[in-house]
Amino acid sequence: MSIANQKRVAIVTGGGSGIGLAIAEKFTTNKILTIIVGRDEEKLKKAKEKLGECCFAMPCDVSKLDCIPELIKNIIDKFGQIDILVNNAGINMKKEFTEVTDEEFQKIITTNLCSVFAMSREVVKEMLKKESGSIIHISSMAAQYGLPKVIAYSASKTAIDGMTRAMAVELSPKGIRINAIAPGFIETEMTAKALNTDPERKQKVFGRTPMGYMGKPDDIGEAALFLASDAAKYITGVVLPVDGGNSIGF
Ligand code: NDP
Repeated sequence: MSIANQKRVAIVTGGGSGIGLAIAEKFTTNKILTIIVGRDEEKLKKAKEKLGECCFAMPCDVSKLDCIPELIKNIIDKFGQIDILVNNAGINMKKEFTEVTDEEFQKIITTNLCSVFAMSREVVKEMLKKESGSIIHISSMAAQYGLPKVIAYSASKTAIDGMTRAMAVELSPKGIRINAIAPGFIETEMTAKALNTDPERKQKVFGRTPMGYMGKPDDIGEAALFLASDAAKYITGVVLPVDGGNSIGF
């Protein structure tokens, strides 16, 4: 498709809502052709209507790892290239440590970690052909310090930070930059679920956030746009906190 020759092409998983939607919005506003991926077709449709002609929706459950090679092949067939991948799709579950079943633990690891590996592997195969690309993982404060009652989530996000560094050392010499963003507490459905029913946790969050308020999805969008751009051409292997100081708060 000729459009892809003029424009950069990005994939944003979980681009239909929350942080992913804000990232997709930043990209499309900056004329980056953006493919949003998610399970809920209605959600994707609404997002596409909002984002306009630079946005394309591709429904896919990324936890079904077998579907990922096909997804990337379809994107390449249609758009010819992939310049940017944002691995943003993620799920969380708040539960006492001893109550978490193996199935629940596995489901979170598969969605938040295994899918990030499989998406990255397939996309890197394409990026290597051009020896260029930028991959951004979405990590979390749960990888910066110990948070109770989110054991699988913490394990998945901590592994993301390790994978960011391991991918960066292996792939940066081949022209592909790998970075992660560690959002602090950002106003989305995910945090509403985790904090609105738990005033003590909410108090703790604000108590250690020097800036004193929660971030907006747009704050993460700005960071993703920067990391994906040439302005960040010498940045690889970092986990960038965008957190109002939460990770260094006392
Ligand atoms: P939301 O719940 O608002 O969005 C999550 C997105 O991921 C949805 O669009 C959802 O779409 C998609 N998704 C979930 N599972 C799958 C799947 N199996 N296949 C495809 N898409 C999937 O959460 P946030 O926007 O808050 O979170 C986005 C990312 O940011 C996550 O990785 C989260 O861990 C991380 N994060 C968020 C923080 C916050 O404060 N909000 C803090 C730190 C990290 P659909 O339902 O259509 O599949």
